[in-house]
Amino acid sequence: MFCPKCGKTEEKLFDNICKSCFLEDVVLAEIPDQIEITICAHCESRLEKGKWYNLEISDEEVILNTLNDHITLNKYAQDVEIDLEMILERGSTLEFIVHIKGSVLGELIEQDYKLNVKINRNVCPECSKYMSGYYEAVIQLRADNRNPDQEEINSIDMLIADSINKISKKNKMAYIAERAVLKEGVDYYVGSQKVAKRLSNIVKDHVGGVIKESPRLMGRDKSAGKDLYRTWISLRMPYFRVNDFIKYGNVLGQVTHIEGKRISVHDLVSQNQTSI
Ligand SMILES: [Zn+2]
Ligand SMILES: [Zn+2]
Repeated sequence: MFCPKCGKTEEKLFDNICKSCFLEDVVLAEIPDQIEITICAHCESRLEKGKWYNLEISDEEVILNTLNDHITLNKYAQDVEIDLEMILERGSTLEFIVHIKGSVLGELIEQDYKLNVKINRNVCPECSKYMSGYYEAVIQLRADNRNPDQEEINSIDMLIADSINKISKKNKMAYIAERAVLKEGVDYYVGSQKVAKRLSNIVKDHVGGVIKESPRLMGRDKSAGKDLYRTWISLRMPYFRVNDFIKYGNVLGQVTHIEGKRISVHDLVSQNQTSI
């Protein structure tokens, strides 16, 4: 085969020219001059292809991922390695050198490219909900035929704060938008329904009681085309508390455990454990 560029006769041509001519001006990759990345200014979530992701990866990984979507590698390139080196930061634009290494037809090729990365700071929908005081559910803490006492409320406040702390590591809608103290109990305004359900179950596991949910239609989200509901979750704690002494029929005992409507009692006469 005849190479039209250098006139040599070679066994095999690549893109119609010989290997040495081909390698002379081989381009490892075509990359854009600039890519843009959108980051939430509050929680560092990233917007990718129209969706927000709360990914725990470094900025460099995000840039590499975005670059990967916009890069065209030479079809002969193998074992390609891409490294980023930041050389300059100008306001919201970062300048990088992209080092690309790969083997083409058995030859190791290294090439550098310039890349500008524009960082757009925005607010993700979850942070904007949080900042506007948005809530999807209200947990109404109440007690059966009595008002919850301060000690109970304090320990439930702590339990809720603790749980929110844990859940919010994975779910940004885990927040209390407002806490309202009423004579008959406390209302907790919770960012998401899912979190509110979880919280009310956690509290119920500790203090017993009965949960009732009542969703109310609040309107319609025209852009998403769906009805908007807000849920009121009533958690009614039992009349009795753990360690209370009670007399029930023939049983005189001390409450040891409360779960839902079931109260476990240590019978002080027979020293047995019973449930009422
Ligand atoms: Zn040639
Ligand atoms: Zn955010």
